[in-house]
Amino acid sequence: MRIVLVGPPGAGKGTQAAYLAENLSIPHISTGDLFRANMSQGTDLGKQARAYIDAGQLVPDEVTIGMAKDRMGQSDAVNGFLLDGFPRNVGQAEALDVILKDEGVKLDAVLDLEVPEDEVVKRIAGRRVCRRDSAHVFHLSYSPPKTEGVCDVCGGELYQRHDDSEETVRTRLEVYHTQTEPIIDYYRAQGLVVTISALGEVADVTARAMEALKQSTEG
Ligand code: AMP
Repeated sequence: MRIVLVGPPGAGKGTQAAYLAENLSIPHISTGDLFRANMSQGTDLGKQARAYIDAGQLVPDEVTIGMAKDRMGQSDAVNGFLLDGFPRNVGQAEALDVILKDEGVKLDAVLDLEVPEDEVVKRIAGRRVCRRDSAHVFHLSYSPPKTEGVCDVCGGELYQRHDDSEETVRTRLEVYHTQTEPIIDYYRAQGLVVTISALGEVADVTARAMEALKQSTEG
């Protein structure tokens, strides 16, 4: 299965993507995670991306599309993948169509996670991420770690992403509305969009998403 996950920052894309990818036995490909890995390893790509990410802006397409294409070309992604955070504008969506066409494959669904804006801000302000594995995500109020500052799963240090600061979040939301939301219409025209509410318990949202994907790909 080839799935794109969309939704505003704080919708829980990363959390849901990790569970959905596991349930569907496909790799979770997050361009945000790929950028963060490059930044922490100090690669040229990481250096190019950092200023944009810290400002809450999109990293230029020339950098992003190549990185995403390389990752999708790896052997574990041959039979499918779950894209989280890519594409993030219409240019990237068009580039993805070309990449898939060249491989003779198609997207199966675009899962749109809906969350009210005030909830998004609350979610991001309390979000804490594990330094060892960014799939391990906690929230100070909604899912606090057992020991403050320590990941329940692996014992790694929890930190607040630099771009989760209030000011940067506002920019990221603005970028989402102006640049990313238009891809929903782009994919709606292809009949691929499935919208679900991302409110409630993580496991309930995963179940809702699995059911919606099942219906849309069977129907
Ligand atoms: P995320 O972890 O998906 O919230 O991404 C964090 C940041 O990485 C974003 O705010 C962007 O600066 C950058 N980023 C991630 N994915 C993309 C993309 N597809 N295009 C451009 N920038 C991206």
